Amino acid sequence: MARLTVITGPSGVGKGTLVRQLLHRYPAIWLSVSATTRAPRAGEVEGESYFFLSREDFERQVRDGGFLEWAEFAGNLYGTPRQPVERQLALGRPVLLEIELEGARQVRRTFPAGRQLLIKPPSLEELERRIRWRGSDSEEAIRCRLERARVELAAEAEFDAVLVNADLGEACEQLERLMDLGSKKPPGGGLSATGPLD
Ligand code: 5GP
Repeated sequence: MARLTVITGPSGVGKGTLVRQLLHRYPAIWLSVSATTRAPRAGEVEGESYFFLSREDFERQVRDGGFLEWAEFAGNLYGTPRQPVERQLALGRPVLLEIELEGARQVRRTFPAGRQLLIKPPSLEELERRIRWRGSDSEEAIRCRLERARVELAAEAEFDAVLVNADLGEACEQLERLMDLGSKKPPGGGLSATGPLD
C-alpha cells in the first residue's frame, strides 16, 4: 500500500502554495479534494479547490460514512471523501491530504502508518499578516483562524516532522526531503507512478 501523507498547518501558513509546487514537480502524487460547506473564494473551482456542499448534503454524507474524516473549522464543515482516497491507495499512488488538526488526528487513528507533517509560520504576527493580505475573511473569521492557529501550533509534538515556511523554495525542498522524494526522482524530473513514497 502506498504511503498516505497528511499536511497540517494554520490557515494562511502557505500550505496550498507549497502543495501546488510539490504536485507540479511530482505529478504522480494524488491530492485529495475535500468537501466543505464554506462559500467559494474568488477563483476557487468546484471539484478542484473543493466540493462545495450545503450543510444538509454534508451532514447526509457524514451519516452515510462517506468521509474518511471531517471537522468543523471557523464555522464551516470540511471533510475528506473516503472512496477516492481508498481507491488511489489501492492503485499504489502516494496520497496527500491537506487538512486541519482534528482531521489529522482522526486519520492518525485510521492510518497509523501514514506520515503527518506540520507546517509552521515564522511567527504568529507573520501568519496574521498573511491572512489579512489574502483579504477574503471577515474580522470574526480572522480572529477564529488565529485562535485555531495557536491550537494547531501547540500540537507540534504529535507530528512526525515540523517544517517552518519562511522561504517558499526552501520549505518546498524541505518538504520533498521529509516525504523522501528527492532521492527517488527519476532523471526526467517526474515521479514514477509505481509508488515513490512506498
Ligand atoms: P480554508 O477555508 O482556508 O480553505 O481551509 C480551512 C482549514 O480547513 C485549513 O486548515 C484546511 O487545511 C482545512 N481543511 C481543508 N479540507 C479539509 C478536510 O477535508 N478535512 C479537514 N479536517 N480539514 C480540512
